[in-house]
Amino acid sequence: MNLKEKQLFIFDLDGVIYLGNEPIPGAKKVLDFLTTNKKKFYYLTNNSTKTRTQFKEKLLKMGINASEQQIITSAYATAKYLQRQPVGPIYVIGEIGLINELRTAGFSVITEDTSNEQIKYVVVGLDRNFTYQKLAYALTALERGAKFIATNADPTLPTEYGILPGAGSMVAALSTAANISPMIIIGKPNTFMVDLILNQEKIPPSQAIIVGDRYTTDIMAGINANIKTILVKSGAGIKEIKLIPPSGPNPDLILNSIAEILNYF
Ligand SMILES: [Mg+2]
Repeated sequence: MNLKEKQLFIFDLDGVIYLGNEPIPGAKKVLDFLTTNKKKFYYLTNNSTKTRTQFKEKLLKMGINASEQQIITSAYATAKYLQRQPVGPIYVIGEIGLINELRTAGFSVITEDTSNEQIKYVVVGLDRNFTYQKLAYALTALERGAKFIATNADPTLPTEYGILPGAGSMVAALSTAANISPMIIIGKPNTFMVDLILNQEKIPPSQAIIVGDRYTTDIMAGINANIKTILVKSGAGIKEIKLIPPSGPNPDLILNSIAEILNYF
């Protein structure tokens, strides 16, 4: 594969650029190379718990200078999606990243009792303070006609402390109670976030590539969006190779880490 002709590079964050709080060796060198060569690049994460400012600060601590515009989270993308829909109060199960993105986009965000509100949407993301009461408020809003949207459906969240429940666990709880699925799941493997970037940059899929450590989210998002894909074995990648179905579709390239990208220029 020749990467010289690609104009747009989309990187997953955790497992590709860093592992927890540790940068992946060589990541900064690749990003500097892309900057020098006037390539466009974005960071794409399903993690809705942090704001883009918080991700920017996290990257800066690793010596990576990113702009907020380059960081697309499922929380930010959810706000973008909702801006195209009829407006109304939103009940949120989620953390500051999601709540802030929705408020910044101008929405009225409710995180308390929904019984006196005409809730238009229930948005569910990862919430590490998830409770039965929050689930009950969300169910009440859905029963009264609100629409159900999920930031992402990752079943688990890999952390330095081991595997923890992901946003998908909370989405499943509400789906079970309400007996409906979300009308849309914004995060990868859905193409919504990739399409958002392609449209913003006016770059055709043939000019773009996604680099990720998860087959079922990053690589499938790329395949679904019809862009080339690179699976890296840093992060979850080494286990993810086993998830590739024998009959495909396969990633276009499998590398040990982001550092090896430089060999393809
Ligand atoms: Mg990852």
